[in-house]
Amino acid sequence: MTAVLSLQEVTVAYAGGVTALDGVSLDIHPGEFVAVVGPSGSGKSTLLNIMGTLAPPTSGRVAIDGHDIAGLGDRQLSALRGRRLGFVFQHFHLSEGLTATENVATGLLYAGVPKRRRRRSAQAALDRVGLAHRFEHLPHQLSGGERQRVAIARALVHRPSLVLADEPTGALDTANGQSVLQLLNQLNQGGTTIALITHDRDIARRLPRRVEILDGHIVADTGAAPGAQDDARAVTS
Ligand code: ADP
Repeated sequence: MTAVLSLQEVTVAYAGGVTALDGVSLDIHPGEFVAVVGPSGSGKSTLLNIMGTLAPPTSGRVAIDGHDIAGLGDRQLSALRGRRLGFVFQHFHLSEGLTATENVATGLLYAGVPKRRRRRSAQAALDRVGLAHRFEHLPHQLSGGERQRVAIARALVHRPSLVLADEPTGALDTANGQSVLQLLNQLNQGGTTIALITHDRDIARRLPRRVEILDGHIVADTGAAPGAQDDARAVTS
């Protein structure tokens, strides 16, 4: 099965001599729910930028659904990103002047879907995240948990191969955070492939696969096989 995301020996060096990622290899397959966990400064944001094709690696290979991103121009890259990836951010990043439906519909802009169908698909996605009663609400009329659900619906609406969630519960209180995690779990059980980036070990512990990052290296990966979560193996690098 083709990996939805494949990183091979990815290195990112910043000006000033910091090597933020050092020979990172990682495959994520369809149907997985992976936590990428590490403390502040370990390289998570850099890895998220690489996984999301938002920045090129200094060396190594990045492929999405088997498509190597090397050599793609900006437009091709943003089209690939717009069709195949979905993003969920800690602070939601909704447009304040747009309703929930309109915010979610922006997730279809790259898919070439006519406007009326965009609206229908957006409302179906809002329904999937439990917000069928909030179609016309503006972000400021929604709770934090509801805003994150809108953002999740926007990330899902074009049926991406992979959803990248960056600390998706980081701006929420415990109850709303739990509920968003439950929603992500439920979506994963329905077939959505998710990578969740977090510094929080308690959150990571609850996900089927955990990839631990430290000082730019993957230091542990529980692996994707069923039951593998109880059998964490150290990666020697
Ligand atoms: P995390 O998200 O886990 O906190 P980052 O990916 O932000 O980790 O950072 C990894 C390392 O790279 C840190 O040492 C950080 O200081 C450094 N770093 C991050 N961004 C830059 C940058 N733009 N320029 C130079 N160094 C950076």
